[in-house]
Formats: sequence, C-alpha cells, structure tokens
Amino acid sequence: MEQIRVDLPYGRGIPQHVEYTPIKMETGQSDDRKYGSMLLENGLRVLLVHDPSTAYAAAAMNVGVGYFDDPDNTPGLAHLCEHVLPRSSTKYKDHFFKFIRNNAGSVNSFTFASSTSYYFSVNAGIGCFKEAVERFGACFQDIEFLDDCVISELSAVNEEYEMNSESDFHRIFQLFKTRALPEHPWGKFGIGNKKSLTQAMKDDATLGKKLASALQEWWQTHYSASIMGLVILSRDSLESLARLVKHNFLGIPTLNTSPPVATIPWGAKQQRCITFAKTLKNNSTIEVSFCLPDQDRFYESKPTTFVSRIIQHQGPGSLDSYLKGKGWITRLFCDPYQPARGFSFFSIKAELTSKGLIRYQSVLEAIYACLYLLPWAINPASGLFEEFKTIQNARFDYSEKSEAKCSVNHLSNLLLTQWPRERLVKGPTGIWKQDESALRTLLGVYLAPEAGSVLLSSNSLSSIGIDGPWMTERWYGVQYMEDRLNPEVFQNAKAPNIIQCISLPNSNRFIPTDFSVKSPNLRISNLSQPDDPTIPHLPWDGIALEPLRKSDKSTLWFKQDVQSLLPKGYIGVYIRSPVARRSSLDDNSATNTLIVRNALLVEFYDALEAGSRFALIYDDGNLILQTSGYTDRMLSLLEHLLRRIKSYVIPEQSFWTYKEELKQSFQNDQLDSPLLLSHRIVRYGLRNFEWTAEEMEAVLDDPNLVTLEKLQDHLTNLLAPTWTKILVTGNFDEHDAISAQGIVDAVVGSTNDPDTDDVVTRIPNHRNWVYFYSVANKEEKDNAVGYYLQVTNTFGSNPTKLHAALLLFAILVNYPFYEKLRMEEKLGYDIISAPLIQKSVVGMLFTVQSHQSTNAIESKIDDFLKGFKKDLRHMVISEAKTTLVKKLEERAENMEKRAAELATFILGGGGAGCCTPLFRHPWGPNIRQLRKHGSKEEELIHAIKRLHLKDILDFYDEYIHPASPSRAKLSVHAQPTPPVDLKTTESHYNVIHDLKQFKQEQDADEA
Ligand SMILES: [Zn+2]
Repeated sequence: MEQIRVDLPYGRGIPQHVEYTPIKMETGQSDDRKYGSMLLENGLRVLLVHDPSTAYAAAAMNVGVGYFDDPDNTPGLAHLCEHVLPRSSTKYKDHFFKFIRNNAGSVNSFTFASSTSYYFSVNAGIGCFKEAVERFGACFQDIEFLDDCVISELSAVNEEYEMNSESDFHRIFQLFKTRALPEHPWGKFGIGNKKSLTQAMKDDATLGKKLASALQEWWQTHYSASIMGLVILSRDSLESLARLVKHNFLGIPTLNTSPPVATIPWGAKQQRCITFAKTLKNNSTIEVSFCLPDQDRFYESKPTTFVSRIIQHQGPGSLDSYLKGKGWITRLFCDPYQPARGFSFFSIKAELTSKGLIRYQSVLEAIYACLYLLPWAINPASGLFEEFKTIQNARFDYSEKSEAKCSVNHLSNLLLTQWPRERLVKGPTGIWKQDESALRTLLGVYLAPEAGSVLLSSNSLSSIGIDGPWMTERWYGVQYMEDRLNPEVFQNAKAPNIIQCISLPNSNRFIPTDFSVKSPNLRISNLSQPDDPTIPHLPWDGIALEPLRKSDKSTLWFKQDVQSLLPKGYIGVYIRSPVARRSSLDDNSATNTLIVRNALLVEFYDALEAGSRFALIYDDGNLILQTSGYTDRMLSLLEHLLRRIKSYVIPEQSFWTYKEELKQSFQNDQLDSPLLLSHRIVRYGLRNFEWTAEEMEAVLDDPNLVTLEKLQDHLTNLLAPTWTKILVTGNFDEHDAISAQGIVDAVVGSTNDPDTDDVVTRIPNHRNWVYFYSVANKEEKDNAVGYYLQVTNTFGSNPTKLHAALLLFAILVNYPFYEKLRMEEKLGYDIISAPLIQKSVVGMLFTVQSHQSTNAIESKIDDFLKGFKKDLRHMVISEAKTTLVKKLEERAENMEKRAAELATFILGGGGAGCCTPLFRHPWGPNIRQLRKHGSKEEELIHAIKRLHLKDILDFYDEYIHPASPSRAKLSVHAQPTPPVDLKTTESHYNVIHDLKQFKQEQDADEA
C-alpha cells in the first residue's frame, strides 16, 4: 500500500554539514561520553560518541524501511535482505558476521515494521575496530546479491519462521496483526518463509538467480542514505571518528527520500471485538489492546508510560491485587509500544488461572473498571505525575553507563525522530513536563474501554464453551474465532461494587531523597597485603579482600565502590539453608520461593517502582536475597524484606494459585524446543541437583507431597542456615555494612543440620553414550542433538593449562562449526558450540537443531570434528589468543556487575548470576567458575599466552577426535519419536536407557 506521508515527528530537518558539530547532550551523572553529530552529503544522519573508558567499540546502522515495504507478492523480502546484506559486499567476499565473531565480538541484525537495524561491537583494546567499520560500511554500498548466499539465507529465514511457529507468542502476535484494516501493511507477514518468498517464482534451478535479482531491485529502490542513521562509539576522538565515518559511509547511495510514516491500522470495525485463539502451550492469556496515534511526539511527558505504571501497579488496592486476590490471574502486564512510525499500541495483558479463564468476563470487567476510573482520578493534585517524573528522572540521572552495543543500537533507532539531538540520550526515559491535554485525550478517547479489542488465547477454550467453527490464520495456522464483545461487559464494569475495590496507588514512601555520594573511605581496614599467599585475592584490582567482621551467625564482606560515584549500592545475603536445597524432590523449594517472592512483590512494589531491586533466588543450592538500587532507604528495605520472609503466613488461595502456575510452567518447559530440551537433559545427566520438568510435575500432582502445611513448615526453617555470608558494596561505608550485618543477624537463625554436596557425573570414556529423549510435543518438526564431550583432568595434570586449551579451542572451533553445519550441510539455524562449565567439571557442548534425523545430525557433527583436524593444523592461533586474553582481562563496567564478581569470589566461584559470556548465546560459560577448580584468572591468562598450536592439537586428539580412546561423550537426541528398534541402534551407540540410573552409577566428582 502506498503509505501516506504526513508531517509527523520524522523527517530530514537538519541542514547539511559534513564536518561534525559537538552536541551538548543531556546525560546522566555517570556518562562521561562526548557526542557529536554529522549529516553527510548523501543525507546519512550520524551520531559520534567518544568514550574514553569503554571496554567495547561499537557501531549501529538503522535503516528506515522494514517489512511494511515488502512487495505484496513476496512477504519477507526485507527480512531476507537483512540476512543477505552482510554477505553481499563486492569489496569483502566473506560474511561480515564471520569477521566479527572471529574477533569474539558480537553482531546482529533485526527487521522491524518500518526499520531494519544492524549493529556490532568488538573489544576496544584489540585494534580491529577500524577494519570492522570498513567492513560494516561496505555492507551498505556496492552490493551484489549472489545466488548461493540467497539460497542458504532463504533456508535460514525459513528455519527462523519454523522456530517461531512453535512459539505461541509469535503465532498469536501474527493473528493480532492480521486483524488490521484491509490493505494496511500492519497485517503483513514480516518474517516470511520459503513459501511466501518464492510464491511469485518457480522453484527450479533458477530460483536463486530470480530471488537475487528481486532482492537487488528491492534494495536499490528502498535502501537510501537519506533514511539511515549511524551511531559509532569508541575510545577515538570525535575528529577521528568523523574521519572514519566520512571515509566509509559517504559512498552509500541516496534516493533523497524521507522515512515513510504509516497511518493508523484500526478503524471502528477493529474495536469492541473479541478473538478466541488456540495456543500450543498450556497458557491462558487475555489481552485488551488499544490502537493510538504516534506517541514519539509526546516524549516530553510520556502519557502512555505514566498510565501504564498506574494500571500495572501491584500494591494494595491495585487492579493486580484485586484479580490475584480472586484467584483469577497470575500476572498482569501493561505495555505501551510503538511498532512502527505513525502509530502505537497500548495493551493490558493478564495471564489467567483455570478459574480466571472461566471468569474471563469478570476479569475484563475489572480491567475496564480500572480504565473508567482513571480519567477522573488522575488530576494534577493527586501528585502521581510529580512522583512519576521524579522516579523517571532519577532513573535517568543515576543510571549506570549502558554497554556500548546497547547504546549504539538504541540511539540509532532514535536518529530518524525529530527529537532535538541533545535529548537523544535522555529522550526514552526523561520527563520534562506534564501535558494534561494529551493525558485527557489518551484516557478519554484512545483508552476508553469501547475503543479496545480483546484477544483471549488458551488451549482449553472448550472449557468456556468456545468450540468453533474455527478459522485458520494463513501463515502459522492458528485456529481462531471472532465475535463482538457483549455490551453488558461495559455496563457491568461501571457497577460500583467493582470500582470500589480498585484504587489509585498511595504516595510512594520508597522514593529516595538523599542522592549524596559518600567520599571514598581511605581507611580501608579490610584490605590486607596483596602478597599474602594465604588470602585469596581479587585479581582485578590487585588487592586482597578478607571479611570485615565475623559474628556468631554471619560473615560480612564490605567493599566501597568508588568507581561509579553514584548513590547506589548492593547488599547480598547468601544463606546456605539445608531445607532450601532441593535435596529431595518432594521438598519442593521452587514452589516456596515463588510464593514468598510473589508476596514480597505485592508488599514492596513501591520500592521496585522507586528504583530498588530485590530478588529472592535459589542458585547452586544457596538461598540468595539481594537488594540493589539507591542506597538511601536500602537498609530499611532489607530489614523489612527479611522480617516479611520470616513471618509470612501463606494464604490458602495463593498456595493453590502458585501451585497451578508452577505446574503450568513445568508442563510448558516440556514443550520447549528440542534444542533447549537437549541442553537441559545434558545438564540433568551431569548433576545430582537437577530434576527434569517431568519429575517436578509428577511431584506437584501428588497431593501428599506438596501441601500447604509442608510449605509453611519449610518456610519456617528456611532462615535457619548452616552459614550466612553478607556482601555490602557500593555507596556505603563500614558503618552501614556493620548495620546490615546487625539486621541480618537479628532475623536469621542457625542450624547444625547436615548439608548435601553437589556431585558431577564423570562420563566413562571410549564409548559413544547416547540417550534418546522423547519430546512431549509430538507435532514438533525438528530434532536436536546435544553432543557433550567431557574434558577430564588428565591433560598433563595441570588444570589451568587444560582450561586454557579448552577456552582457546572453543574460540577456534566456534565459527567453523557454525559455518560448516549451517552453510554447507544446511542443518538449519540453531548451531551452537561452547564450553560447558559445570562446577569443577568442564567440557565442550555442541548443540544442533534441525529437520534432519538425530542420527544424521550426530554423524555430521562427527564428520565435522574428524575433518576439523586438517583445518586446525594450519590455523594461526595468535589472534584467537589475544582475543581470549582481552576477554579475560575485561573488567565489569558497572557497579552491579562488580558486585556480582565480588559475590562469585565470596561464594568460592559458584553462582550469583555472574557470567562472562565468551560466545553469542546465553549459555556462555561462567569463566569465574574455573577459579573453583584452581584456575585463577591471571594464571589462566598466563597459560593461554604460553599455548602453542601443538597443545591445541594434543587437546583435540585426546578429548575431541571421535576416534580418541580417552574421549568421554554423552549425547542427547531429543526428538518426537525415538527410534523404534534400539537394538540396531546399539551397534553404533551405547544406549542409555535410564539417564537417572546412569548418573547414579558413574563415578562422581565432588563439585
Ligand atoms: Zn532473521
């Protein structure tokens, strides 16, 4: 559809100046960056960012076209273009992603409705940034789409689509989109698949050529420097960044177009409707949506954000607590979002319990009641807006500097708005003024209940009498029904009995008022001499840390954080509680944590809203209560939280609701992708404190195992640990730390109950151990293999050298594995390799999800590993060594990450959520865990520097090569239908019939 161009907040307003202009950016306190802007002759908008202390250098390009501009007969073309573009420069033949990943950087790209984003980041210290920028610039000029690239990316796009087709989120969202006005691009199928992309052409030998020429034409008529925004950030000065930009981006062709702006996709027909849709997973969700005009122009007052905060408030008297109190919902979200230039959505979403599904009309009435209440309740005198403004602006003023890749990505998305340049950084968070008329219009017109539309999705619609006839959504095949909303719902919502139950939030007593920063405390009594060998020391600042104080109940560590100079801090209380450990299945601590955490959320919601964070988690057998945020009022928050945990009496209604929620989540875990499942089952096979979702669900089903009495009992004993460790860090002094210890000691008890140790299975070597795992979703089209090679400590009995070799090998194998299996073998999209560090036992995990059979996947991994020796022999390892060393030398860039490092140190290498990801996926190993096994970072770095290619070849021969007699392999084949005849399979593999028994029978290492 030809899009209507209106004079909205997007355009090409700035005069051209090829030299850069410094910008006086409105920034937060910790932002020491310098900013400059440029407009190149071709119309490219550029933001330069000089950051003298950044660990990463990064750049992002936002292009102001997306799938809205797909040709009608080729849905997905913009997305395919995004995939192929980084491989199509005529100047650099290889894939841009390959260059970045070989330098251990991160890189990605996304296609949205009216924009497409590309970004990368690399370590700022390794000197490849200039070349990376050159290669990045080349992705946008002198493009030639090649047939074979197009074909292999077509299958990648198709894999992505198939992955999404297993996800209710994507399926239901596409259904929601198709309910737009006819001809409006919002209804388009943006991701595309093989069918949609090739429906206009014959699928024969010339397909690649035809698609390549369609792409070429589309790219030439849509990509234009005049609708692109580039952000570039590094340690270089603004002058040299400006030179780099001119040199590499001036050649991007321009069409002198302005960014297209869409109209509103809804009319009267889209309102007052209800759509019922069937889900795959066991979830029931009701979502009320409203379509609004463009909201970017209201950035100074953010009326939608303000209203969403009130609707999703979780304190007493809120909509959330009303619905939870009835046992109808488990969660409520309110989410304004702008998917494209020109319009936005406001959605209120509740996850329903089975009781709530039956009473969905009552849930709807309560949501509408809340909306009817808002217009007359929100007046300036309520003080709510002032509070919102204070919280938002404090959030901005005292935020930590965000990571380079996040900064460039966010800012590049904003370059096409007409926000003043100096407000680009503050724009998404800050509040400048209250705009009463915008707020009134929002509430009175756009968020009037009658203007909305409802989507109820569930896999148990028959329980509410919705039985079809069903219609089928075109691309994902979602079955759905449509109806008009019963007008009674609106009438009932105005009834006083509901409205009286819901009230606006009271004034927030947790908003901090003291933002002062304590001066560095130079009398640091807790630091001892760095060369005392008996004290473990923190290698990153060359000083040792020992406890500040020990009491009869707890040990206290304190470290003032003088780096961030923000009024923020972190207090972690680590409790080794024998009852908190899942030492037996029926002692179901997960339910317990969930219940307590939900209780805390309701009571302390204001604290969260005011910028505090708290979490109650189980991690590696420890119960962790952590609080972070502004130091003002944090000690009193800690005290209240601890006392609440101690005194909490679980209401029966909450018990049943949370038990149901937990059961749902265990059922849904079993429906996850084969890739995730294979990874999870490998972990399950390796550790004693791991349970499968099937096992957990069975426990919840047994009425005698998880009862209210048992849980209450559990809770009572929870805070009676074998030991308690406390970490206080940030903008605190010693006096504060000692107060924190006093608070903890007053609440926490102690016990002499025995504690169970973690053990890790040692896989017997020289066998091909295979476990066939049958996935619950029998409709699943993909299979996955998790191929784990355990690396045990026989390698010259030097664990540090072994760890060094593993990490370096992992870097060397990462891209070749991905490239070979994705591009050559066409195994699909999910191809991952990474070290797996499970406590002290380490290994290499290769995971692949594909259409092909698990046997085929497994033998392709075998073939790759066999053939990799030839490549490895000729590899130059010096660059990979430098990259790895730089990674290990990286220091946490913000206070929360520094706190996590300290916590890992105090807990002896385990857990606490600290992670130094080396690889692009979320399972990146926690390198710091290697410390537990005797590898200190500086020794590890030293060992890496001394590695020769021969060491890596020896490592490969011993642990990786399929023919090695000392190789220890466990592979999990996750598939809907396991092989019928395991006998024939057993000639190739040693089949594990019972994984639980297998792990119990093997030698185990103490973790
Ligand atoms: Zn994609």
